[in-house]
Amino acid sequence: MPSIAVVGTGYVGLTVGACLAEYGNVVTCVDSDAERIESLLQGSLPFYEPGLPELVGRNQAVGRLSFTTDLDDAVKRSLLIYITVGTPDAGDGSADLQQVETAAAAIGKAMNGYRIIVMKSTVPVGTSELVRDVISRTTDEDFDVVSNPEFLKEGNAIADFTRPDRIVIGTSNRESAAVLQELYAPFVRTTGNPILVMDSASAEMVKYAANAMLATRISVMNEFANLSERVGADIESVRQGIGHDHRIGNHFIFAGVGFGGSCFPKDLKALIQLGRRHGCKMEIASAVERVNEEQKQVLAEKVIERFGSSLTGRRIAVWGLSFKPKTDDIRNAPSLAVVERLLGDGASVAVYDPAAMNRAKEILGDRVTYSETHYDALEDADALLVVTEWAEFRNADFKRIRRLMRTPVLFDGRNIYDPQMTRDEGFEYHGIGRRTN
Ligand code: NAD
Repeated sequence: MPSIAVVGTGYVGLTVGACLAEYGNVVTCVDSDAERIESLLQGSLPFYEPGLPELVGRNQAVGRLSFTTDLDDAVKRSLLIYITVGTPDAGDGSADLQQVETAAAAIGKAMNGYRIIVMKSTVPVGTSELVRDVISRTTDEDFDVVSNPEFLKEGNAIADFTRPDRIVIGTSNRESAAVLQELYAPFVRTTGNPILVMDSASAEMVKYAANAMLATRISVMNEFANLSERVGADIESVRQGIGHDHRIGNHFIFAGVGFGGSCFPKDLKALIQLGRRHGCKMEIASAVERVNEEQKQVLAEKVIERFGSSLTGRRIAVWGLSFKPKTDDIRNAPSLAVVERLLGDGASVAVYDPAAMNRAKEILGDRVTYSETHYDALEDADALLVVTEWAEFRNADFKRIRRLMRTPVLFDGRNIYDPQMTRDEGFEYHGIGRRTN
């Protein structure tokens, strides 16, 4: 088995490194952030991902997984070099490739023989070529660049990486494709899912197209939800009615407070920018983004409609801050838009999240109260807003909630409760795309 270096030890890089090590490969994870590497060496992970600490610890202990800031040494010892650095919004919506270019140049300088560079970061079409150019300028060694987009979901990263629906490999070099096909064979053995080999431009396009398609389903459902509310329909009934159509299916058709996270919003923007650069208007992607930005305001607007435009003196409890359950990631989380709006209108806000409180503190500081449990957040609250559908919120004790709150008003931003049940418990229920009374 080839030895592997993974450059960038974030949500993707650490998962890739730990999972490949778990399957018997020798993996060196590199990061330019010395503090991050130091804490990994001490056994502390930089973020929350279920199952990952155990996987990292086990493989570290047997010497298959190591951490370093020494990229040069890691590249010299490895045949496969993964690039898993960040590709954030450059400010104008396009993908900022600075981290990719810096990593590529350093990899090129360190190479002392043939290497396969695996582009795992989400990058605009043409980036594999760019990486090839950057590396060529720094080395005379032979190498190949393969596009290998990642489809894992935070919160389910290990299962997604080790049992993927498909693996996409973008290269015209058969030998490189064969190396990756062999490496990934254990991940599709039981499912029989495909390893698709294609040109690198198509592989890069697949990732943006997949994210845009999923984001589109969410925005279209949110649009249906807003209309359902006005015409007296219930979006949950509508969802079931359309989801059972096999041509549509049940995935990604849940109405809510909009999508967030580090991928959908930035990848949509990058796709729109890529289109513009090539003379395509990308009208659907633009509308999906617009609808989502508006949707992030819907819950706070319902609160304002209910209590009046000044929320001064109102105490609001917010359950859930991460952009989705089972992660501590709050990048572009709808919760931030909701909380900022409530604070802006004068409310005092108490928040609770099972994993994302520390990350939230970095952004919200001391402007909100951080509660020990989800029930603690409710003391004397005028309203409860459910923003992230963590499992522990689902079977809540409504009698206890009722006792704790000043007024039993519930804004269910993820439609996780049965409205009638909450009314029977004495609550005033406001969902997304559902009748209030
Ligand atoms: P992240 O911000 O969590 O991690 C990036 C890491 O790269 C950081 O630890 C940073 O210190 C390190 N880094 C930056 N420049 C470096 C350099 N020159 N050398 C070494 N290390 C360097 O990012 P992430 O969420 O893991 O995402 C990485 C890429 O994968 C992005 O392109 C993202 O769009 C894509 N992706 C993310 C997900 C996800 O769910 N997070 C899923 C699929 C694809």
